[in-house]
Amino acid sequence: MSSTIWQQVVEKLEAKISRPNYVTWLKPVKFLSNDGGIFNLSVPNYYAKEWLDKNLKTEIISLLSELSKDFKQLNIVIRDAGAKATNEDLPPLLQTISEEAAQNEQTEENETINRNYTFNSFIVGNNNRLAFAAAEAVAQKPGTTYNPLFIYGGVGLGKTHLMHAVANEIIKSNPKKKIIYTSCETFTGEFIHSIQNKTINDFKKKYRTVDVLLIDDIQFLSNKEGTQEEFFHTFNALHQTNRQIIVTSDRVPKEINNLEDRLVSRFGWGMIADIQTPNFENRMAIISAKAMERGLTIPDEVLSYIATAITSNVRELEGSLTKLVMAAHVEGIELTKEFAARTLKEFSGQKETNISSRKVIKVVAEYFGINTADILGSKRLKELVYPRQIVMYILRERCKLSYPQIGEVLSGKDHTTIMYGVNKMEQQIKKSAQTEEDIKNINKELEL
Ligand code: ADP
Ligand code: MG
Repeated sequence: MSSTIWQQVVEKLEAKISRPNYVTWLKPVKFLSNDGGIFNLSVPNYYAKEWLDKNLKTEIISLLSELSKDFKQLNIVIRDAGAKATNEDLPPLLQTISEEAAQNEQTEENETINRNYTFNSFIVGNNNRLAFAAAEAVAQKPGTTYNPLFIYGGVGLGKTHLMHAVANEIIKSNPKKKIIYTSCETFTGEFIHSIQNKTINDFKKKYRTVDVLLIDDIQFLSNKEGTQEEFFHTFNALHQTNRQIIVTSDRVPKEINNLEDRLVSRFGWGMIADIQTPNFENRMAIISAKAMERGLTIPDEVLSYIATAITSNVRELEGSLTKLVMAAHVEGIELTKEFAARTLKEFSGQKETNISSRKVIKVVAEYFGINTADILGSKRLKELVYPRQIVMYILRERCKLSYPQIGEVLSGKDHTTIMYGVNKMEQQIKKSAQTEEDIKNINKELEL
C-alpha cells in the first residue's frame, strides 16, 4: 500500500526531472517502510542523499503529504551506512572518490586529524600563498614561529585543510606529539557539559596539556562569554609553555561580534593570514590537480568549463567534478564540455541564479527610489546603507557570489564589510516583517 504511494511519487517526479537525474538519483531510491506516517527511504550512498536533500526532498514531501493522509515525516537513510566506504553501486573508477569522501566524512565527524589534508595535496596560488607559507613555518617549528596562527577566509577555501596539514606534518616528524583538533562548537559544548557534570578539571586538563591545539571556526565564540573566558585561560596556559595554537575563522578577529578585547589582541600576537577566493588560474590548477589525484583523464576544455562556471569555492569546484564524473559514468557517455554544461545546469536546480549583479543593483535602486551610484558609493546614511546591504544579501544568497566578489562589484569594498552586511540582513529578515517583504518583492522584480 505505502510502497504504491512511493511508486506514484516516483512516477510524478520522473515526469518532472531530467532523464539523467532520474537514472542517477531517483531510480536507486528504495522504499523501506511507512511507520505510522513516517516514510523511510534508502539511498546507495551519501552523494545520493546529499543530492536528494538539496534538489528533491521538498518536492517528495509535498507529494507524500498529498498522496498519503497520514504522512508525518520523511527519512532518507544511506543503505549500509555502517559498512566501510566502498559501495557496490559504484564503478571502480569512482571507488576512490567514494572511499575518500566517506573517510572525510568519518574523520570530520570524529573530529580527528584527516590524513588526506596535507601540504602535498594543497594547491598553492596567490590567493592562499601567505597562509600556506605561515602554516608550513608553523609545522616546522611549532610553538615558536607564529603563535597563534590565525587563518581566516570564506567558506570552502581550504582553512580546515591547511590546519590539518600542519597537524599531519607535525605527526610525521614527531608521532608522539599530542594534537587536538576540534570545532569551536564542540569545544563550547564540551565546556558546558563539563560544568553540568562537574568535570571541569578534566576538561581543563585535556585542553591545557596538548602540544598543538587546533580550533576550527573560532568565530562561533561570538557572544559566548563563559567559553571565551575558558578559552582565554587555555590559550594562556598553552602559549606560556610554547605550545602551538592554530585557529580558523571566517573573518578577522576584530570583526567577530562581541569577542573580548583581550582575545582579539592575543589573536594578533602571532600571524593573521587570509585565504582569498581563487581566481580562474587558481581554480584551473586546483581542479586539474584533483582530477589527476584520482587518476581521471578529463579534457582540458571540460576542466576549464568547470573552472569558469564554479567560482564560489573549492569545495563546490571539487563537488562539481565528482558529480559530473559520476553522471557521465552512469549515462555511459563521454564527459564533454556540452555534457558538463548541460549537467551542471541541471545540478544547479530549477532556480535561475544567473542574474547579473548589475541587474540586482538596478532593481534594488529602483525599488528604494535611489540612484545606483548611491548603492555603489559608501555614504553611511541609513537610507542608503539598508538598500546596499540588501544588494549584498541578494548577491550572496541568490547569485552565490563570494564575499570578495561582492566587494568587487560594490566598488571595491572590503570583504569583511560585505560579510557584516549579509549577516546583518540574515538577522533582520528573521526579526523584521518589513525586511522580509522588501526582499520578497525585490526577488519578484528580479524574475521579470
Ligand atoms: P574551509 O575550512 O575554508 O571551509 P575546507 O578546508 O574544508 O574549507 O576545504 C574545502 C574542500 O576544498 C576540501 O576538500 C579541501 O581539501 C579542498 N581545498 C580547499 N582549498 C584547496 C587547495 N588550495 N588545494 C586543494 N584542495 C583544496
Ligand atoms: Mg572549515
